Amino acid sequence: SPPPAAWVRSTFLDFFRQEHGHLLVPSSPVRPRGDPSLLFVNAGMNQFKPILLGTADPRSSMSAYRRVVNSQKCVRAGGKHNDLEDVGRDLTHHTFFEMLGSWSFGDYFKVEACSMAWSLLTEHYGIPADRLYVSYFAGDAAARLPADEETRRIWLDIGVPPSRLLPFGLKENFWEMGDSGPCGPCTEIHYDHVGGRDAAALVNADSPDVVEIWNLVFMQYNREPDQNLCPLPRVSVDTGMGLERLVSVLQGTRSTYDTDLFTPLLQAIHQRSRVGPYGGRTGEADQGRVDMAYRVVADHIRTLSICIADGVHPGMSGAELVLRRILRRAVRFCVQVLQAPQGSLASLVPTVTHILGDVYPELHSEADRVMDVINDSEAHFLSSLHQGSRLILRTLSSKDYKHGVFPASVVWSLHRDLGFPLDLVDLMLDERGVKVDCEELDRLMAESHKVSSDLHSGVQSQVMLDVLSLAELQRLAVPHTDDSLKYQYSLE
Ligand code: ATP
Ligand code: MG
Ligand code: MG
Ligand code: MG
Repeated sequence: SPPPAAWVRSTFLDFFRQEHGHLLVPSSPVRPRGDPSLLFVNAGMNQFKPILLGTADPRSSMSAYRRVVNSQKCVRAGGKHNDLEDVGRDLTHHTFFEMLGSWSFGDYFKVEACSMAWSLLTEHYGIPADRLYVSYFAGDAAARLPADEETRRIWLDIGVPPSRLLPFGLKENFWEMGDSGPCGPCTEIHYDHVGGRDAAALVNADSPDVVEIWNLVFMQYNREPDQNLCPLPRVSVDTGMGLERLVSVLQGTRSTYDTDLFTPLLQAIHQRSRVGPYGGRTGEADQGRVDMAYRVVADHIRTLSICIADGVHPGMSGAELVLRRILRRAVRFCVQVLQAPQGSLASLVPTVTHILGDVYPELHSEADRVMDVINDSEAHFLSSLHQGSRLILRTLSSKDYKHGVFPASVVWSLHRDLGFPLDLVDLMLDERGVKVDCEELDRLMAESHKVSSDLHSGVQSQVMLDVLSLAELQRLAVPHTDDSLKYQYSLE
């Protein structure tokens, strides 16, 4: 029978700890500590950035770290690594996921890192070598970065056939933490779910059949805020593997949602819904986007639980604004697509705690607070949603309504007074075959922006943060310009 996720996680940690002398370091909270370049912790290495940069306090225990292993809570829903738009649509990206990581800080380098990874995957997890493909950095002339021939040789020596060893450029095989920060060439291991064929063309091609599972980064540079690359004081190894993807490989499914990390959640969602059970369909086959809704809700409730437990609440700027959007997206899919009653979302928190609470005990201790925050935010949004629906119906039956064209002033008031993301208004009107008077809406928005030009004097109007787009905010030079704002309009 397939191994449970708990075994997969502990086998990784034990392998590096017991067999290769790595120190087990707990996951850091998902709220980055003292790093304004980040919205959320997006990789295991974030908490070790000072070691990589050589700026760790020499009196801290961290400064003595040489070999480290951990399982890190990561959120990729804003900033350089933003997967929010893919979540629900595909079967491999989550907003919250666990990254299994191993590090060598100035200790061993490429040879050992590659052989440890290969031995763990093929011997301990028993993954057939002929299902694995390896990519390495092809170099980039414009950036004056050489190809990583050394790593290619190492993989050949390990026994990876040349046909499965593939060069890729900056985008795939040069890893960077954010717009600035530690970076370097990387080599990645991909798994072919099908087998018995040459799948090289499917590597890094967004195919559901071949997925990237493990990234081994050879940290060599720091990307300075002016975008220059500076060599680090010493080179390090930083590896990260998505637990959910590894578990899906070992449990023989091509979807992370069909593993024991998610199936109890999908079942709990089904119990609360008024639609059929989860069917695993994507794209066109997913009529009414029911399966997508299941995935979105399952993903988002994990993210909400983890983030709120770590003290990030749905709010009005930065990471908190992203979380607010995640919450509203979850509520909409839950209520409108899955037809689950109010309160369903929060009622899933015990299931999340049941699945992840042994590894991240703050889920246990914070569970009540997490549920309260979710219920409050849901109630707040639902009352707007109901009020808005009523306002729309009233307008449609009023005398002023010209057939087929909805008055912009009502859209504007839905948005300004009830905090409706504009695309939600659009969606709700679209469902009734109604269009918005866009010209008039633009005029109203422009007018309101003129009024709001005192924004950068520090007056942070909630309404305006809700209303302005990223470009508009940048024009007004308001200090909330992270790209999380790009997504606040869209609920899907
Ligand atoms: P992808 O190309 O699939 O988006 P990535 O190259 O952005 O992944 P890395 O930054 O290299 O990912 O992160 C290391 C590993 O973390 C990946 O190989 C993958 O196993 C896992 N991972 C990355 N993003 C996600 C995500 N959104 N959800 C689940 N696992 C992820
Ligand atoms: Mg990615
Ligand atoms: Mg990738
Ligand atoms: Mg990668």
